[in-house]
Amino acid sequence: MATATIIDGKQFAARLRAGIATHVAQLKAEHDITPGLAVVLVGDDPASQIYVRNKGLQARETGMNSFERRLPATATQAELLARIAELNRDPTVNGILVQLPLPKQIDPERVIEAIAVNKDVDGFHPLNVGLLAVGGTGMAPCTPLGCLMLLKERIGNLAGQRAVVLGRSNIVGKPMAALLLREHCTVTIAHSRTRDLAEECRRADILVAAVGKAQMVQGDWIKPGATVLDVGINRIPTPDGKGRLVGDVDFASAVEVAGAITPVPGGVGPMTIACLLLNTLTATCRQHGVPTPEVRPAA
Ligand code: NDP
Repeated sequence: MATATIIDGKQFAARLRAGIATHVAQLKAEHDITPGLAVVLVGDDPASQIYVRNKGLQARETGMNSFERRLPATATQAELLARIAELNRDPTVNGILVQLPLPKQIDPERVIEAIAVNKDVDGFHPLNVGLLAVGGTGMAPCTPLGCLMLLKERIGNLAGQRAVVLGRSNIVGKPMAALLLREHCTVTIAHSRTRDLAEECRRADILVAAVGKAQMVQGDWIKPGATVLDVGINRIPTPDGKGRLVGDVDFASAVEVAGAITPVPGGVGPMTIACLLLNTLTATCRQHGVPTPEVRPAA
């Protein structure tokens, strides 16, 4: 039986970061500007700490300045908003990201709305969400942007492709659908109330799974030859007690049917931070009135 091409997101993300680093160096040499990314962490959630550390590390590796702001888990909303206001005013900070989730005493919507729109490198501010919806030049959220780049690398022109996005969250599903629509795909968004999920998925030339349900999408849900992007990150138990990361797609059965598929880990995941850096570079150029470069992954 045919076996799908494995889309190597880890390698693509490394090439993209190298492409970004070239433009960061150019920005420094020609305009004496160094992009700055500030990441705010509230509390000490272990997974969030790892994400924040990796974001800082990769920002510095591409030549950007990285700023970390930590607040205790007991921080009030007013304290966090005051910290964001400082970062909004700071000219050396071009991108601001507040690591989610936040402790329950803090309203994430208020926090996201407080970030200056032109520094919102996560693309979660309502104005950026609206700009994406109307096809404008706002900041696109990092995970869907990474998915789009992988799809374009694999397929090229996406016009006319039938795309099914499984999941309708504000951070993945909805912006993914908006980006695919902007590329002239025919887009279906499926979710927990969709009547026949398998049938919807079987129609897809492009299937993006972002549901957070381990190995839910089976091989016989997939159209032969389809391109499958698996956004899900789920830990399942293993006999040794360590657990194992799997996606929302049952990789073993899907790889026999799909034309191309992302693995978990090493598929969509690494693209998220690379696209965060891309958004930071874009934000920096816009803030300084410098033309935004078209960043290509290094060869
Ligand atoms: P959410 O929980 O916010 O959204 C999940 C979506 O899936 C909802 O729209 C929900 O539908 C739908 N859904 C849930 N269960 C089912 C089901 N049984 N059948 C059909 N639809 C269902 O998740 P996120 O979008 O934030 O994340 C999705 C996955 O992607 C997670 O595993 C997460 O860890 C991962 N992720 C990975 C990232 C990366 O960098 N690779 C970044 C962000 C997320 P409804 O709206 O009807 O409830």
